[in-house]
Amino acid sequence: MFRPASSKVNFPQVEENILSLWKEKNVFERSVDSRQGCPRFVLYEGPPTANGSPGIHHVLSRVFKDVIPRYKVMKGYYSPRIAGWDTHGLPIELEVERELGFSSKAQIEEYGVDRFNAQCRESVLGYLREWEAMTERIGFWIDLKHPYITMDNSYIETCWWAIKQMWDRGLVYQGYKVTPHCPRCGTSLSSHEVALGYQDNVEDPSVYIKFKLTEESQRRLNLGKPAYFLAWTTTPWTLPGNTALAVAPDADYAVVEVENEYLILASALLKQAGLEGYEVVERMKGNDLVGLHYEPLYKIPIGYSKGDKLAYRVIEGDFVSMDEGTGIVHIAPAYGEIDFEVGEKEGLPLVHAIDLSGRVEDIPIGLTPRRRKEIFEGLAVVMSPVVTLPLTPGRGAFVKDADPLILDDLKSRGLLFRSERIRHTYPFCWRCEAPLLYYAKQTWYIRTTAVKESLIAGNNEISWYPEYIKYGRFGDWLENNVDWAFSRERYWGTPLNIWCCESCGGYDCVGSVEDLKEKAGFTGLKEPFDLHRPYVDELTFDCRQCGARMRRVPEVIDCWFDSGAMPLAQWHYPFENESLFEDGRFPADYICEAVDQTRGWFYSLHAISTLLFNRPCFKNVICLGHILDAKGEKMSKAKGNVIEPWAIINKYGADALRWYCLTATPPGNVRRFSEDTVAEVTRRFLLTLWNVYSFFVTYANIDHFTPDAEVTLSYQSELDKWIISELNQLIVDVDSALEAYNPTEAGRRIESFVNDLSNWYVRRSRRRFWKSESDADKLSAYTTLYECLVTLSKLLAPFIPFLAEELYQNLVLGVFSEAPDSVHLADFPVADVTRIDKQLGADTKLVMKISSLGRAARSRAGIKVRQPLAEVIVKVGSSRDWQSLQCLMPQVLDELNVKGLEFVDNMVELDKPGYVVSSEGGYAVAVPAEISPELAREGMAREIVHRLQTMRRSAGFDIADYIATYYQGGDYVRQVIKDFADYIKQETLSRQLGEGIPEEGVFSESYKLGGYDILLGVKRLG
Ligand SMILES: [Zn+2]
Ligand SMILES: [Zn+2]
Repeated sequence: MFRPASSKVNFPQVEENILSLWKEKNVFERSVDSRQGCPRFVLYEGPPTANGSPGIHHVLSRVFKDVIPRYKVMKGYYSPRIAGWDTHGLPIELEVERELGFSSKAQIEEYGVDRFNAQCRESVLGYLREWEAMTERIGFWIDLKHPYITMDNSYIETCWWAIKQMWDRGLVYQGYKVTPHCPRCGTSLSSHEVALGYQDNVEDPSVYIKFKLTEESQRRLNLGKPAYFLAWTTTPWTLPGNTALAVAPDADYAVVEVENEYLILASALLKQAGLEGYEVVERMKGNDLVGLHYEPLYKIPIGYSKGDKLAYRVIEGDFVSMDEGTGIVHIAPAYGEIDFEVGEKEGLPLVHAIDLSGRVEDIPIGLTPRRRKEIFEGLAVVMSPVVTLPLTPGRGAFVKDADPLILDDLKSRGLLFRSERIRHTYPFCWRCEAPLLYYAKQTWYIRTTAVKESLIAGNNEISWYPEYIKYGRFGDWLENNVDWAFSRERYWGTPLNIWCCESCGGYDCVGSVEDLKEKAGFTGLKEPFDLHRPYVDELTFDCRQCGARMRRVPEVIDCWFDSGAMPLAQWHYPFENESLFEDGRFPADYICEAVDQTRGWFYSLHAISTLLFNRPCFKNVICLGHILDAKGEKMSKAKGNVIEPWAIINKYGADALRWYCLTATPPGNVRRFSEDTVAEVTRRFLLTLWNVYSFFVTYANIDHFTPDAEVTLSYQSELDKWIISELNQLIVDVDSALEAYNPTEAGRRIESFVNDLSNWYVRRSRRRFWKSESDADKLSAYTTLYECLVTLSKLLAPFIPFLAEELYQNLVLGVFSEAPDSVHLADFPVADVTRIDKQLGADTKLVMKISSLGRAARSRAGIKVRQPLAEVIVKVGSSRDWQSLQCLMPQVLDELNVKGLEFVDNMVELDKPGYVVSSEGGYAVAVPAEISPELAREGMAREIVHRLQTMRRSAGFDIADYIATYYQGGDYVRQVIKDFADYIKQETLSRQLGEGIPEEGVFSESYKLGGYDILLGVKRLG
């Protein structure tokens, strides 16, 4: 006997029981350990940050991370999976800053870096329990007991080792460069971080500014009135930093007279600047303008060196566009990559008019590149300006607030030509959403461009799912590689392991704790040993060159470096686990994250591995699309459209959510998520499967069916042969789809099989299970359905591990006690290809098609499916089709509910009076609209049986209960029941069928059938 399986199932409850079973029997650990010695299958877990609740997108990636290793284990691989937690970086710091109510770095310093970092350490695992609970509840099997944690000393030490390798090969350098800088976080961002934070439709000023030519330059152009260069910008705050204007040397420029002054700009952009139709008094080439001077917008003190050309002049630039602006580009070397480059080349002074927090400086100064070098080398000192008044408007204001103040000031001085607002795309800090400023400063870089070719070559070896990411998003990213700006002027992170001499300025990169301790004059070590700031900053040693103190540089490193180093750092390589390259722990067979990681973790993994070992560290990657709400909008707390995974799981269960994630849409697509989609999956798939299972258990128990492993059965009916053929084909398909990292395709194949199993095999076999004799045909039906369900439980185990286990526990362990005690300890099914009959599959598909056309024609004729018909006319595509239907004729007749078929070759022959046709692509079925009285009576009898069966269920009778049936009706009804009494009794398990007013205790209902009133009553017999 099987444990009864009610058709009313509570999936979350079933799953909770399975979770206890797994825990009690240690199933996960055993599923891993039992495969020791087999080939390895390695999953790298991309470490999440546990300082907030896991969201639905985390569930999505965790489900995809889970399904492949589960499958591999069933296929005989040894696959320990290790959890990891990303614990460093700005996200954590920001959270703590919020808690403490801080808004600047100064407040952190004042508070104390030790206390601040202690709070980061605590906060970072604040939601660890919830993450663990979620991970367990959704059945993501990963070792949570021995996770790698990026803030551990051992983890940090491996990062140090990796940086040291790069340092020794000259791949780490400090550059004075313009980097994307977050003014709020006070730190540079790497280009991959910038890529995460672009926002569209950002409103900014769009202004045209007049730069007045010096009298000397005006004379050189022979202009008799005041003349101005017209330049365009969307960042007015950079204007005080202007020290040059650039033109395209070969382009045409025009001098236009406007209100008694002259404006100079590119001819091609006159219209765009609103100057079309004004009189052009002079035309010239850009080259003619080069070398002219103009008056600075603000009189900022400039430190020149001997031989420097004067600033505020026109230079040539091949970057000057004729698509927007005026063809004259405002150059502020401190605030743009191109500006900086051209400034270095042309010897332009660099003016920092704002500080690193994005606020306007009181008294900015400018220094030419040569002057900066002299100061750096101690050959000159920074001048102290004699002015004491603010030189620029908006002192102390944040750049975006300074914009209008600067514009007002320029307007009052007649230098603002035109001012509008535009909407464009602008980068913001991906964490705090402050607008990024391109800012020239010192930053540490990893020279990834030195290995660009290897990065690209390595990508050729990686299999991407979906494939278009490989040479699309990821490949493009590699093609456009720039050096990795990897230092952060922050507190809670892996400290950059570079020490600098206080006296001679020499650098030393330290590769391990041991290295450090062996340095001459090493001091500052305290217990407990912590490699974080501020403790690591206390560690000093003697300079090799001059003997003075070496102190660590203040920066920490990009937390993406941490996570990208996980293939090594999780093992504390090379200090421990030196064999990981030989024993299969490196590289990973499989990783999976969302598409934004092409510039995040996927990239940092690939970059570090290529830099260190010149090879990729992962072989296969499933790249997931983003998850949006039902309307296609991004989920955010602000919008209030965030869907909590727990709410879904508690209502529908984890399997429903998993099945949705795996099958609703191919992994790379953007998906719209709502509760309804999970409800739909439950109804369409899980309940269909459950109902078949429940049906089997119920009838098998009534008939005392016991599967016998020993008996090799010869299948009795075409139907059995067909579903077994389909089942074996399914094994082949699912296996190959999972092998190709396509769980979506695999899942959809299973779903379509379950549909056929339920809507065709079980529906068509109902009478075989129902009839009272226990003959060979019945045994064959039971054995067939049993085999289907047991195989399904194994095929489904990687996808919906709970329901698969429920089926397995009851169907397999309930009978065979020596079987593996969990489906997850079982082997993946192997197809018996000799049982695949492709022709039978095609034949049956055709029968399905014809019956569906038959139903459509009936519905158009207004004839119920239960109404038998004498004959229908069928048109098929070919003579092969005709043979197919001949082979399966009993099924065809039964499905169509007809006594006979007439075949025709031509669509025209279907066009008979009194027939209604339904057709599709060369196939058609025509049904007669008129029904003979005799058939109408048979239809009525079937209708009565159907009502009685529904009433049995409504009355709560068991399927096997015998009943007494009563009826009341007119002459017609009485005659029908008399004529079909045997049939009705047999179908409804009625021992008696009597006319009369139903007595007390009878379940009764009245109907109108075919225009006749009828009252029916059923009563259970004891
Ligand atoms: Zn920020
Ligand atoms: Zn020194």
